[in-house]
Amino acid sequence: MLDYDVVIIGSGLGGLVCGTVLGMNGYKVGIFEKNRQIGGCLQTYSRDKTIIDTGVHYIGALAPGQNLYSIFRYLGIMDELKLKQLDKDAFDKIGFAGDDKTYMLAQGYDNFIKQLLKDFPEEEKALNDYCDKIKEICGKFPLYNLRTGDYAEKEDILHIDTHAFLSSITTNEKLRQVLAGNNLLYAGVADKTPLYIHALITNSFIESAWKCIDGGSQIARLLNKRIREHGGEIHRNTKVAKIAGTDKIEYVLLENGQRITAKYFISNLHPTQTVEITESEVLRNAYRTRMQNLDNSIGTFLLNIVLKKDTFPYLNYNYYHHETENAWEGVDYTDQNWPLTYALFANATSKNEQFTDSLTIMTYMRYEDVAKWKDTFNTDTHINDRGADYEAFKKEKAERLLDIVEKKFSDIRKCIHAYYIATPLSYRDYQGTADGSMYGIAKDHRNSFKTFIAPRTRLPNLFLTGQNLNLHGILGVTISGLITCGELINMEELLNKIKQANIQ
Ligand SMILES: Cc1cc2nc3c(=O)[nH]c(=O)nc-3n(C[C@H](O)[C@H](O)[C@H](O)COP(=O)(O)OP(=O)(O)OC[C@H]3O[C@@H](n4cnc5c(N)ncnc54)[C@H](O)[C@@H]3O)c2cc1C
Repeated sequence: MLDYDVVIIGSGLGGLVCGTVLGMNGYKVGIFEKNRQIGGCLQTYSRDKTIIDTGVHYIGALAPGQNLYSIFRYLGIMDELKLKQLDKDAFDKIGFAGDDKTYMLAQGYDNFIKQLLKDFPEEEKALNDYCDKIKEICGKFPLYNLRTGDYAEKEDILHIDTHAFLSSITTNEKLRQVLAGNNLLYAGVADKTPLYIHALITNSFIESAWKCIDGGSQIARLLNKRIREHGGEIHRNTKVAKIAGTDKIEYVLLENGQRITAKYFISNLHPTQTVEITESEVLRNAYRTRMQNLDNSIGTFLLNIVLKKDTFPYLNYNYYHHETENAWEGVDYTDQNWPLTYALFANATSKNEQFTDSLTIMTYMRYEDVAKWKDTFNTDTHINDRGADYEAFKKEKAERLLDIVEKKFSDIRKCIHAYYIATPLSYRDYQGTADGSMYGIAKDHRNSFKTFIAPRTRLPNLFLTGQNLNLHGILGVTISGLITCGELINMEELLNKIKQANIQ
């Protein structure tokens, strides 16, 4: 029987960060992943010799001295990452139907203000107020600043609503919309999404914005290497079927019938899925009602386009588009007006700096739009046809999305070699969630405390990690991983080690 110090269920970024940190601090770690490929949303796949990302299109705060850089350096992966910094004057461009301008979100706070002043010359005060508030909020999150602190520091800002805040700093409606223009990054909902979510994410990209050259799966590959160097093991194609024990966890039962024991257990799964496979009533009672009252963020429809060679220039920025003047409306689409928004990402490839070989176009899609096919299951190891009507549905949606994209990128259809589509069902089946939600539990400024999930559970040796804890995204999940590890190792010492790794 296999026995570890720590068993980690799921090899998403959260599980891999915990596995690396705990391995580096003397724990023998075993990670169990249901898929063939590790990494969860870090996975890439290849079509027509082209790498396609499933959940990493750009990453913030990766310049020396910035938070993610410091953590990745401690984890020993920073030097080997192949990165390309996005355009300093515009990591994101925001566009609206019927408006010929595109608005630029730049890196560096001074430059951010400078670029927007070109389009909003009267709005210097509003832009300064905006940047000051973003920085103030980020300063209140201790671990985001790689220091210790407590919940009380941020208590007075958790209730601030993003939409209301943007309305309060200016009467210029266009500027309000531009500042919310990339809210697909956090599936923003007007009058719901807390300002701290907008701030923590936006700040990281204003600090610095990067693409992974040849895909985000390199992060998983490098963490895998570190985990093994520290004696850890990752078992692929190994689904955990049950977390067993009454007052504390005794073992996990794998789908293949094997029992794995450990002193501690960390679940990288959505809390609802964790509860579903946990035997103990202690956990069930603690989470049952709470989870029923929490919404997950919306799902996505991802159109991945493999391009004909040398036809589409590499864009060193991301483009966010809104079909109406209201950047918050995209999430409220109807069958008739879908899609109301999209983000377009050109993938960075080492093969060619001038032209890109693939594009990802991302928009929203609710699980109920694909619920008709909910009884199907399809991954690369369990290949099942969801049926001709599903294929026709995807094609019809892809063509509708392309009709909108074509208005901005007029030659796009001529450049397409082939396209591949992911829907909320694809994310449900690969990530093991109930509804293929993009970013997990949706945060709500009206009850921020309720939407904070702690790493500690009522079972003394079961902990949670991943995007449902504090913040989604590569930065958010990495910090959540540290928070989880802080339950087993001294946080002050861990932060000191991160600091040391960055001065050597
Ligand atoms: C379309 C999309 C685009 C995104 N773009 C970006 C971006 O550009 N930049 C950015 O920073 N973030 C982006 N994100 C967010 C980011 O990718 C995620 O927040 C992050 O990777 C989630 O990591 P995680 O560890 O929480 O979970 P996951 O990646 O969901 O990992 C969970 C793992 O658990 C495994 N698992 C589930 N059940 C079991 C079981 N029973 N037994 C064993 N294993 C199991 C799953 O297979 C999976 O590997 C994007 C997300 C999506 C969906």
